[in-house]
Amino acid sequence: MKPEWIRVRAPAGGAWKHVDAVLERRGLHTVCDEARCPNKGECWGRGTATFMILGDICTRGCRFCAVTTQKEGRPVNAEEGKELALAAEELNLDYVVLTSVDRDDLADRGSRHFAACVQSLRERGRAFKIEALIPDYYGGELAAVLDAGPDVIAHNVETVRSLQPAVRDGRASFDKSLRTLREAKEGCRAPDGRTKTSLLLGLGETRDEVLACMDELRGAGVDILVMGQYLRPSKRQLPVSAYMSPEEFDRYRGEALARGFASVISAPLARTSYHARQSYDESAGEKAPPVGAAECSVS
Ligand code: SF4
Repeated sequence: MKPEWIRVRAPAGGAWKHVDAVLERRGLHTVCDEARCPNKGECWGRGTATFMILGDICTRGCRFCAVTTQKEGRPVNAEEGKELALAAEELNLDYVVLTSVDRDDLADRGSRHFAACVQSLRERGRAFKIEALIPDYYGGELAAVLDAGPDVIAHNVETVRSLQPAVRDGRASFDKSLRTLREAKEGCRAPDGRTKTSLLLGLGETRDEVLACMDELRGAGVDILVMGQYLRPSKRQLPVSAYMSPEEFDRYRGEALARGFASVISAPLARTSYHARQSYDESAGEKAPPVGAAECSVS
């Protein structure tokens, strides 16, 4: 049974309906829906969502994730960048998070389309801050996205080193992800560019492994860390190994800040894009209250 602090707010309000209508009209997908994020009611109620580009079918089969998986993804929609930019304007977003499914079926793994979507947002002339939550791109694939100038490059390691084979698709690894994060930090074009990653807790990791993971992430120059409770989306995914208390998340936050992360969001329902603007501002030294357990125990 889920503990009482895992409470999900039901979707409500005009903002939620507006988000839904804009996405439908523009033919866009969100990770909020596809990954069954527990924060949808809250985020959409605030008028924000995280776009998921390159279709709604992922070519990898990570064992924690609810996104539909097949060998081949959908045809790439050349209009997607334009629709994204228009949707971001209609939603009056000043901070846009976009992510994608993994497209191992494409020669460039979707990196040029990802870059084109970031570029489309840039070309609208609005001062969007853009967070690109990318697959494990490196080399030329990563350079294409960096050239488009996102303010934050995020890539998720998802879990500690020892659990990578059990939790992620066999084509992913901790070292590949560290490489992506390191190269992103070294190559970031945006002034004050940030790198960011997330960990899901409650998959069987030990406290020492989480702390060692933080050390490795800081060694790769990661600026922003998000930690949240793994929740099993359905019986097809891995079971939850343990539920961390809000106090445990607070302790991890303290450990991460002591290691030099510029911003840390650590709470049961925290996800990579949860309060993304807030964590970006905090990492830039602007005053922003920490997102703690109380704020995430939504009901
Ligand atoms: S936390 Fe991110 S993925 Fe979840 S509902 Fe909010 S914007 Fe969507």
